[in-house]
Amino acid sequence: MEPFIAQATEEEIRKEKNRAQKLRNSQWWKRKCAEGICYFCGRKFFPRELTMEHVVPLIRGGKSSKGNVVPACKDCNNRKKYLLPVEWEDYLKRLSNDSWS
Ligand SMILES: [Zn+2]
Repeated sequence: MEPFIAQATEEEIRKEKNRAQKLRNSQWWKRKCAEGICYFCGRKFFPRELTMEHVVPLIRGGKSSKGNVVPACKDCNNRKKYLLPVEWEDYLKRLSNDSWS
C-alpha cells in the first residue's frame, strides 16, 4: 500500500512563501524570536540565529500559518532540509531522549 503524500502545486507554494514573508515581519514572529528558543532542540539562541521553519513542509501541503511555522536554529534547519524524513525523526527522538535522561 502506498502511503498518501500530499504534494502542493507550484502556485500554492508561491502563495505560502509570500505569506511566510509577511509572517516574518509580524510582531507575533518577532516576539517568538525574542524568546530565542529553537522549537526542535529547545536550546536558546540569539534572535538573529533563528530561522523560520515549516513543521509540515510547503511541498507537503503545509501552510504559512501560526500553527505551522516555528523558530529553528541553523543546525536543526539544515538537518531538517538534508535528512530523510526517517533520519529526521530519529534525530528528534534522540533530542527528546537526551532531555529526559
Ligand atoms: Zn535547534
